[in-house]
Amino acid sequence: MQQSFITGYSRKNNAYALDLNKRQVLFLHPLLAFFAERFKTAGSIPPQLPAATEASLRNTWCSGEIAYYYQKFLLLKESGYFSASAQGADFSQTVDPEQIEQGLANNRRVVLEVTDRCNLQCAYCGYGELYWDHDIRENKNLNPATAKTLLHFLQGYWNSAANVSDMEDIYLSFYGGEPLLNFSLIREMMHYCQALPLKKNRIRFMMTTNGVLLKQYLEELVAGDFYLSVSLDGNQEHNSYRTFSRGASSHALVADNLKLCRRKYPGFFRDRVSINAVLHNRNSVAAVVEYFKSEFDKVPRILGLNPAGIRQERREEFLRTYQNLHESVAAASNCRELESELFSQLPHTQGLGIFLRESCDFCHQDYMQAACEPSVQKRFPTATCLPFAHKVFLTVNGKLLPCEKIGFQYGLGRVTKEKVQLDFRAIAQKYNDWLAKFSRQCAGCYNQKTCGKCMFFTDLEDKQLKCDEWMNAGEYSRAFSFFINYLEENPQVYGRVLPGGKDAANA
Ligand code: SF4
Ligand code: SF4
Repeated sequence: MQQSFITGYSRKNNAYALDLNKRQVLFLHPLLAFFAERFKTAGSIPPQLPAATEASLRNTWCSGEIAYYYQKFLLLKESGYFSASAQGADFSQTVDPEQIEQGLANNRRVVLEVTDRCNLQCAYCGYGELYWDHDIRENKNLNPATAKTLLHFLQGYWNSAANVSDMEDIYLSFYGGEPLLNFSLIREMMHYCQALPLKKNRIRFMMTTNGVLLKQYLEELVAGDFYLSVSLDGNQEHNSYRTFSRGASSHALVADNLKLCRRKYPGFFRDRVSINAVLHNRNSVAAVVEYFKSEFDKVPRILGLNPAGIRQERREEFLRTYQNLHESVAAASNCRELESELFSQLPHTQGLGIFLRESCDFCHQDYMQAACEPSVQKRFPTATCLPFAHKVFLTVNGKLLPCEKIGFQYGLGRVTKEKVQLDFRAIAQKYNDWLAKFSRQCAGCYNQKTCGKCMFFTDLEDKQLKCDEWMNAGEYSRAFSFFINYLEENPQVYGRVLPGGKDAANA
């Protein structure tokens, strides 16, 4: 059984309690913190403080203070604070086929694996030799008829009454391999989408590219009003894992292409081009941010290496290459400045937003949460999105996945030139089987309300599956101490992460 409150301390030694039943964080006088800890497991609390306990406190506190805070503690207990056990969350929520169709109708991001070919051979590539969980790269291009079949199928959902996200843009995202190696498909899909009759939404285009061929297609990308994410890890040395097949550096070429884009299309470069930089052992968050700010006046998006799907025999190599984002920021001399600049993309500040929403009884995720007591709401275990609610990913082999970030073994359907094969009932069953593996662990996990775990980043076939982010009370007390300390030292971030704040959507 979970305890109902967690105590935590900031660096200034201020004490706080997170009351899980009340969804409130209390600032505690040290005596209140003492009483709360002392009587944590007691079934009943004596109306008068035991003489021995009072005597032990007299060295530090006068008897008037001790009596006052003991009465205050009793009053809070009477009002339901500091109760012995938490009302456990109900993780019995299940996915049903109708929810999946609803998700498809309101889906706003379709990702196409345009080709599995690439003109670079980055050492840490998610589709390279470090990882086992992708399809074999066979120099294949996506068949345009297959991509059109999918879009035609989705059009039916987008135009249906189930689509309640009227007027929101839908993003068609071109992904690879290197998508610019198959630009004819991109062109064909742009024309197809421009002619696709949609009643409620407009389709816009996005692309993730290594930037090697950018110069060649820049004009068309600007004309197509694309959002571009260009991958570059910093200066020549930082970028040294991103090489051509014979080991030659790709840095100068990509940096020159970015500079050309800025010279020819300054507005497009400013508003539509973002940088993805992978963090590894040859760069650091501080150095990468410094490089892109000085060279391109941009703050990059910093991505960590994916720890899921690593081949057992390459694990050591992965660990040598890996660098932790939080640690890299913490090690920087300008740590505060970096945290502020990268605020919405850092895992610990993202966690802060979730923590605040879940720990403030005046914040509600939606009307359902506002109307019901949190304890009676059914929840899904983990923080995995509903299938196809966020994204639909189509691979060159016609596999349909809920996301491009996850292993290809989690395909949920197929698309051929003629039809889309999706069995909503079977998908719901699959999700429910996978989620069931977590529900027991989640029920006993103190991290359950601030959970950011996507189930696909574990081995779902493992019968002994254990969540690596599960927390006991002590571990969560440390996480709680981190959050309150961060808020004490950075009070201005409240306004950024609470609902309606600048970074609320990302946090
Ligand atoms: S990473 Fe997981 S939770 Fe996030 S979009 Fe992909 S499938 Fe959904
Ligand atoms: S961290 Fe893991 S065990 Fe805890 S709630 Fe999230 S998925 Fe469940």
